[in-house]
Amino acid sequence: REAVETGRGFFATHEWQAAPLTAVEAPQGPSDPVANPARLSDTVGQVRWAVPETVAAAASAARPWQASAAERTVILNRAADLFEANAGEVFALLHREAGKTMLDAVAELREAVDFLRYYAARTEGGAALGIFACISPWNFPLAIFTGQVAAALAAGNAVLAKPAEQTPLIAHRAVEWLHEAGVPRTALQSLPGAGEVGAALTSNPTVGGMAFTGSTETAQIIHRTMAKHLAPGAPLIAETGGLNAMIVDSTALPEQAVQAIVESAFQSAGQRCSALRCLYVQEDIAEDLLKMLTGAMEALLVGDPWELSCDLGPVIDAEAKAGIVAHIEQAASEGRVIKTFPTPDRGHFVAPTLIRVSGIDQMTREIFGPVLHVATFKATQIDKVIAAINATGYGLTFGLQTRIDDRVQHVSEAIHAGNIYVNRNQIGAIVGSQPFGGEGLSGTGPKAGGPLYVDRFRRHETLLMGGA
Ligand code: ADP
Repeated sequence: REAVETGRGFFATHEWQAAPLTAVEAPQGPSDPVANPARLSDTVGQVRWAVPETVAAAASAARPWQASAAERTVILNRAADLFEANAGEVFALLHREAGKTMLDAVAELREAVDFLRYYAARTEGGAALGIFACISPWNFPLAIFTGQVAAALAAGNAVLAKPAEQTPLIAHRAVEWLHEAGVPRTALQSLPGAGEVGAALTSNPTVGGMAFTGSTETAQIIHRTMAKHLAPGAPLIAETGGLNAMIVDSTALPEQAVQAIVESAFQSAGQRCSALRCLYVQEDIAEDLLKMLTGAMEALLVGDPWELSCDLGPVIDAEAKAGIVAHIEQAASEGRVIKTFPTPDRGHFVAPTLIRVSGIDQMTREIFGPVLHVATFKATQIDKVIAAINATGYGLTFGLQTRIDDRVQHVSEAIHAGNIYVNRNQIGAIVGSQPFGGEGLSGTGPKAGGPLYVDRFRRHETLLMGGA
């Protein structure tokens, strides 16, 4: 409680430490400062990295969690309580290490806590697979990390968790809270590091399964490496990227559509796998809708997420910014930038930007930032638009704004996407217990937060008995 009330002020200058948390003494790598993406002069803390030898030592010390299902339920719920009790620190870390606004930070803590409580209620059934590796991304450094780890632990596995190299500090605290709640060190070890640590996990033959969230390219590398080194039955649960579209037809309510577009494209500075990337607007309303949309974009406050009034924080690092800016500059050189804005100059900020495209087929890759592509269509072309969206091969989220009931039915059946949002924003999981995941290039499923997910972390054996 005290942390909630005093948290932001106290943590304004606090420096955190992260290091591998292993069950045995293990070799460690060098250490580095962790930067604040909004204030480049701010050091948030220090991280000591794991190296491949740390992975080997942790894997040999890993033991499936021996507690009963009922005990696992109590401990995971206790961890949820600890996450909530430390809300002030969580918010400060999400602001300073990950560039999250207060709105995003609150939603993220809530999702992480939801995951813990949801899986805490699902500890029964099946047996542990053994050792489960969890490799997570920086864009939801608490929620996705916790979701993977909690599901693997609920099933009784020994978990080797690797947070993304950009956000080791919040993951370190999450693991400390899980240990404090009662998860033994042999059942949960943390290995902060970059791709080489991930690769060491993927090729360690003692690993019985893998949960991964990140880019489609990395998922494909992991898939190949696992095939070479791990048992053929070892599951890969992969959540990857998207080229997500929204269709707004001429019957849509304009105010509602604009709000949904702004939230879907620009919240978290567009750094969500679920974010809207390509907007299709029916031609007859396009001019009016884009006028309203650019007005709403102008009102967004881009800045340091430590300020409570901030709507849009920075992107995660210099490399991310450079890639997004290059994409905008390319579009500008082709005369396709509809609207962009100035940005603060003291961090990795990118302004919300609208770029004109002929269709989603003009987009060859996911641009992970606050950039929205806009195409128009005629009433007769809706099936062509759907075909183009499906042809991307991704299938994560899709949005539809319409007042035509038959269209809701028709479009949602025709679109291949794991999550379809009608007349509302498309922002991933609304709560941690909403099944969320993609199809095709967007992931392997089963959906996180769904009832099938935790079952992939288990073995199911068939027992056949003869007579006495
Ligand atoms: P992003 O574009 O979101 O950074 P990545 O796929 O690069 O996505 O990263 C997601 C996670 O995968 C991170 O934890 C990263 O360190 C890890 N990773 C990167 N390369 C590999 C690899 N070859 N094997 C295993 N994990 C990897």
